[in-house]
Amino acid sequence: MSFTLAIVGRPNVGKSTLFNRLVGRKLALVDDQPGVTRDLREGDARLFDLRFTVIDTAGLEEVTDDSLQGRMRRLTERAVEMADICLFLIDGRMGVTPTDEVFADILRKKSARVILGVNKAEGAAGDGGAIEAWSLGLGEPVRMSAEHGEGMDDLYRLLRPLVDEFAEREAENTPETEVDLPEELGEDEIDETAHRPTAKKPLQIAVIGRPNAGKSTLINKIIGEDRLLTGPEPGITRDAISVRSEWQGTPIRIFDTAGMRKKARVTEKLEKLSVADGLRAVRFAEVVVVLLDVEIPFEVQDLRIADYAETEGRAVVVAVNKWDLEDEKQEKLAELKEMFERLLPQLRGAPLITVSAKTGRGLDRLHDAIRRAHDIWNKRITTARLNSWLGAMTEAHPPPAPGGHRIKLRYMTQVKARPPGFVIMCSRPDEMPDSYKRYLVNGLREHFEMPGTPIRIMFRSQS
Ligand code: GDP
Ligand code: GDP
Repeated sequence: MSFTLAIVGRPNVGKSTLFNRLVGRKLALVDDQPGVTRDLREGDARLFDLRFTVIDTAGLEEVTDDSLQGRMRRLTERAVEMADICLFLIDGRMGVTPTDEVFADILRKKSARVILGVNKAEGAAGDGGAIEAWSLGLGEPVRMSAEHGEGMDDLYRLLRPLVDEFAEREAENTPETEVDLPEELGEDEIDETAHRPTAKKPLQIAVIGRPNAGKSTLINKIIGEDRLLTGPEPGITRDAISVRSEWQGTPIRIFDTAGMRKKARVTEKLEKLSVADGLRAVRFAEVVVVLLDVEIPFEVQDLRIADYAETEGRAVVVAVNKWDLEDEKQEKLAELKEMFERLLPQLRGAPLITVSAKTGRGLDRLHDAIRRAHDIWNKRITTARLNSWLGAMTEAHPPPAPGGHRIKLRYMTQVKARPPGFVIMCSRPDEMPDSYKRYLVNGLREHFEMPGTPIRIMFRSQS
């Protein structure tokens, strides 16, 4: 398994020092091909058992004029495109600078997989920087010292799962059926704060549901042709296959598990495997459509899948299929909503859409619900807004005081999106009762209009 790691960050944070450490003394300096890697240095790197290519955005130091920002941006964007994972370095002694924020922005817009390194943090140096670094919204910062070789084990700890995830994705993607579309699928009106699908990054959807729920029919309707079931070649039936298409102007990539099951009908053994395949498709998806059969809705299998999607942090849309068969539509809808709330409280507020895959009724609403769920899943809220909200929440309802000492909530910031994740710095995080956590999660959902998406809040102490 080989992958590429790009080290990015403003000049002087220690990128080259880290590059040298990862590559070792004998610098495996690679090509200077004009246009490709002119300002980018590449080397063969090693970190414990990981072997990879590392890219360093060197060459920036020589530029001191006004064009620095522009160049830095372009170079970083290129590095991000070449890399599978980015290591974004800041200087822990300086803390977060405005230029660091520019970098964080680029990385977020590119939806890059990022590890945030707080360098020059040997000894107690960089303590402040490491806390400030949370505010960049890029997840847990790793304290390190490129010069002294500290923090390399923590770097490894964060890198390892990203590498595994990447490797798995690669393996899964190999045998797939792709239907090519014209190149000029432009980006539609883009909300700068969201990671919108572009021609390159389509919105990834998995349609999951019990056999005969109508998955194949639905997918065929969405992509508009009968090309889905011709996909898998013999021998690769157990791999998720995907189809790229455009759906009402939205570039999508839709994962099919139904085609596999169709083949799998032949043997009981494969039928069982297909459930695991369905679950695996969830991991690729950004939005999971749980497709129910109106005649047998919310069966155990449906509940399991929906719960799994939530646990995996995917946005979920529930679609009830075969609505054309239903005569008592009003009553049925009320009944379904009640079941949904009762059986899947963890998906509170997720959309429930009635459709007929056969006739195409309701597909517009399904499309809109998927787009909306995706937007919410990508949502970012500024630290200022979060903290004023947190202030109001604690005032309305002070945190509990286990043992007579009130837990203090000090500061809140969003550390990730897709799905939204937050950190609250507080005293005695371990003693925070679940009821108060729920109060905060539900309040957050409501106030910032994030129904249906999984929301995580981590409680951390300042030390
Ligand atoms: P780059 O411009 O980001 O590539 O940064 P360099 O690797 O050239 O490092 C800039 C300066 O920071 C050099 O003087 C390094 O010696 C110093 N430096 C790099 N890493 C560390 C570190 O972990 N601790 C300390 N104290 N200094 C460091
Ligand atoms: P899958 O196993 O989930 O892929 O389900 P299929 O797409 O193969 O559909 C199973 C059966 O349900 C087929 O006979 C379809 O024609 C039928 N079906 C699918 N969608 C609808 C629908 O919206 N209305 C009705 N009445 N039948 C449907």
